[in-house]
Amino acid sequence: MTRTPEGTTAPGALDIEDVTVTVGGRDLVHGVSLRVAPGEVLGLAGPNGAGKSTLLRTVYRTQRPTTGRVLLDGEDVWRLPGKQVARRLAAVLQESAGDFDLTVYDVVAMGRTPHKRAFAGDDAHDRAVITHALTRLDVVELADAPFQHLSGGEKQRVLIARALAQQCGTMVWDEPTNHLDLRHQLDVLTLVRRFGATAVVALHDLNLAAAFCDRLCVLAAGRVVALGPPAEVLTPELLSSVYRVDAEVGAHPRTGTPYVTLLTGDDGPAKLPRR
Ligand code: ADP
Ligand code: MG
Repeated sequence: MTRTPEGTTAPGALDIEDVTVTVGGRDLVHGVSLRVAPGEVLGLAGPNGAGKSTLLRTVYRTQRPTTGRVLLDGEDVWRLPGKQVARRLAAVLQESAGDFDLTVYDVVAMGRTPHKRAFAGDDAHDRAVITHALTRLDVVELADAPFQHLSGGEKQRVLIARALAQQCGTMVWDEPTNHLDLRHQLDVLTLVRRFGATAVVALHDLNLAAAFCDRLCVLAAGRVVALGPPAEVLTPELLSSVYRVDAEVGAHPRTGTPYVTLLTGDDGPAKLPRR
């Protein structure tokens, strides 16, 4: 099997083909088609309730599309055996932030399961991969701590370490920087890029999304309303129509990265009366 320097399987091509998810007569996702190239980092943006998590769940086999298909290197993920998919596709989903009655090390070790025979223990290679993931996410000192005692941000990093230990060429991340402080936000997104895997990342922070993603896809009410390079997608018109905010979009003078500044009108902090 091809290995990238991080030891992952080769980046996969992900095709979301005309996916609709209907629950209780309502379309949570409607006719979404996306092609993510091997190694590409695609940012998924959109307001709360837009359908980002639902779409990611169809990729990670936790929400079956009502119609349409999700293909990993041309194979329908919903028709492949679960273990085969788990060797090639890893996820950091929001709902996985639940509590486990396990140590941090054990949670990260769960990432090795798809690579092992049933009931097989961790061998030296598994232990090296687990330790590497713990180190990369800056949680190695927490290895023996009970997972449920951690802060929200620490749990998040442990769950990312678990996904890293899975060594997959394709990853879906649902708001991986949620709960993280600035240093760890930067570390995690740098990791997403360095990892070399194909990635679909739901992100609320549009400035981070613009800095780290090759393309952005904006969802609103379950539909794709914009798709393209960050500089093309992030316009004041889009931010106004999709997010209902007044914003300016500039390009950073040094990096050229687009950045969004929210305009607060007369109600910004500088205008509040001093106490
Ligand atoms: P996002 O991640 O963009 O905030 P979600 O995909 O979580 O949006 O949710 C999209 C919409 O679907 C929301 O209105 C949410 O309440 C609804 N929804 C999500 N999951 C279900 C479900 N299992 N049953 C019914 N409604 C759901
Ligand atoms: Mg969500």
